[in-house]
Amino acid sequence: MPSDAKESFIPLSAPDLSGNEAAYLAECISTNWVSSAGPFVGRFEKIVADFVGAPHSVATATGTAALHLALIVAGVRPGDEVLVSTLSFIAPANAIRYVGAYPVFVDADPNDWQMDVGLAVDFLKNGCEKRADGVFNKQTGRRIGAVLPVHILGSAVNLPPLLDVTRSLGVPLIEDATEGLGARYEGRFLGTLGDIGCFSFNGNKLVTSGGGGMVVTPDTQWFEKAAHLSTQAKADPIESIHDDIGFNYRLTNIQAAVGCAQMERIDQFIAARRDIAAQYAEFCKTVDFLNFMPIPKNVEAVNWLSAVLIKNNSRIEIAEKLRQEGIETRPLWQPLHRSPAHQDSVVLGGDNAEKIQKSALCLPSSSTLLSSEISKIIKILSLD
Ligand SMILES: *Cc1c(COP(=O)(O)O)cnc(C)c1O
Repeated sequence: MPSDAKESFIPLSAPDLSGNEAAYLAECISTNWVSSAGPFVGRFEKIVADFVGAPHSVATATGTAALHLALIVAGVRPGDEVLVSTLSFIAPANAIRYVGAYPVFVDADPNDWQMDVGLAVDFLKNGCEKRADGVFNKQTGRRIGAVLPVHILGSAVNLPPLLDVTRSLGVPLIEDATEGLGARYEGRFLGTLGDIGCFSFNGNKLVTSGGGGMVVTPDTQWFEKAAHLSTQAKADPIESIHDDIGFNYRLTNIQAAVGCAQMERIDQFIAARRDIAAQYAEFCKTVDFLNFMPIPKNVEAVNWLSAVLIKNNSRIEIAEKLRQEGIETRPLWQPLHRSPAHQDSVVLGGDNAEKIQKSALCLPSSSTLLSSEISKIIKILSLD
């Protein structure tokens, strides 16, 4: 990017690679360890697991691959149904289809924009029946393979009431914590509250490895299976014997090297994004037409993306005005039950996700955002 363009362009969420990234990459090159063997992969797995307090972790090529492996090791089978947030990036719904299961989309709660846990609990308690071989949707007759709440934007789903029910019914709970690395719910790190958690290290996330993901779980057998399946289910490395249909979902040493350098500075990244969110939130208090996204009191969010709710139906105009000034914004995702990719799927609840999506706009949230840039964004917003 030419330097003048860089000065005038404010991206939504860009990586900060000014730590040990270059040094660790040089180490990969000079030692010739560039692929999926090499010391950084295990180091990265350990750093992330230690950070969130997870007993086991498996690095993967992407966050989507992490979700795919989590669904498999949690025992989700073809024909099962999986409850998933409808107000989410599409990856978890796609991963559900990869295993031949069907998403049951759950509407959002306007009080936190996350999965409406009350709807999911009501469905599991009253819309399903427990039999000896599992929990079944009374209407479709399909087994409930798992529940997959998505923690969006660096905040968190109200998990405890949902966990009470999934634990009593024996249904696995998979956390999509890809947007919430480092965030905590009542003191516990996202990804470690449920039975298995997934992270992403895509370029626009809080911590990046260029591309990558990770599965964390306290379950030793699930961990071993995820690690095995991620490396083509190789049972005998010398004789090349494979005992299952595996995947090449490994992270490379090059990617893990970047991830290790990033994790050294995660506290700094979180502090910067929290500070940005606080500035936007303060500003929203001073204007009638904007509300800062709701963050529940018992959540220590990492504010991966700061979003505002625009009350006067001018989301598209405001985004355009910012774009003309070189400021990148992004609406939330089309609610997944409306996605052409997931046609004819069912949704529990009403149209809260659609209402939020119509009015919400994500604002620049990079940890490198300058206060002069925030001032510029706020000034443009306040002229509406
Ligand atoms: C980023 C993201 C993922 C995973 O994305 P990858 O690009 O595959 O790493 C999954 N779910 C959500 C909600 C995400 O935001």
